[in-house]
Amino acid sequence: MSTPRPPLVYGHRGARGVLPENTMDSFRWLRAQGIRGVEIDVQLCADGVPVVIHDPLMPAQLARDAQGRWLQDAGPKIIDLTLAELQRYDVGRLNPDHPYGARYPDQRPADGALIPTLAGFLDWAQQDPSLTLNIEIKSFADRAELGAAPAHLADAVADVIAARALVNPLVISSFDWRVLSALHRIAPDIPRGYLTLEGTQEANIFAASPWMDGAARRLGDTDLPRIIADLGGKFWCPFHRDLTAARLSTAQALGLQVNVWTVNDPDDIARMIAMGVDGIITDYPQRAAAMVSGVA
Ligand code: MG
Repeated sequence: MSTPRPPLVYGHRGARGVLPENTMDSFRWLRAQGIRGVEIDVQLCADGVPVVIHDPLMPAQLARDAQGRWLQDAGPKIIDLTLAELQRYDVGRLNPDHPYGARYPDQRPADGALIPTLAGFLDWAQQDPSLTLNIEIKSFADRAELGAAPAHLADAVADVIAARALVNPLVISSFDWRVLSALHRIAPDIPRGYLTLEGTQEANIFAASPWMDGAARRLGDTDLPRIIADLGGKFWCPFHRDLTAARLSTAQALGLQVNVWTVNDPDDIARMIAMGVDGIITDYPQRAAAMVSGVA
């Protein structure tokens, strides 16, 4: 058996452990560190413009309004704000009074950071064709009121990509497989990554799951990697604790690349490297890259 290639390290939301998530500051930092993979979250604002932000509501844990005040509660919805309205918020610092901030004690602020557009991100990323881009489309199969329709999301993202002569390796991923089905129809050549989470309240993989676009009916009969391979997926993106060596080898034998998320603890990173995953998505990309190069 040949030695597996070392996994590619993706900075999660840029590099959430180090700099404000989904900001150009974090993307530039990643590139300067020599990290070759970047994961971002995309949804649509009221203008139909794809923007780089994770939460469906303006997040109270990291957004300040035009007057510089922290939001008391999350909101308004991203889908209800125009791009101009969105970009009045400063997302360059964690709210020190919010519990979320305590999870990332080492995150440095970047005051004045605005929510990027996908177009702006791609214009930047194109300057370095060796950067691998993982664009996660946020869509909420159980709460349609939180975002655009899956086909609209896929269309808008595919349009922004098609408008550029992008040569960077690219994967579009989503927990909402309806988005990936739409993308398959619109732009079948863009590699798709099927995100999965199992066995928790937030899981998207379960019997009759609305997230799986009809594929949930196969769950009793066959393996998850087989379902994803049959859908034409190129990547399976499981939560790292859901992955076993047996499932990994099944997936890889089917031709899938396996990118795990969000792997921050050194023991977990070491376990994923030893298992032979293809990609590691982490808030601490420097840590993971150092560990990968230690075994490469
Ligand atoms: Mg993401």
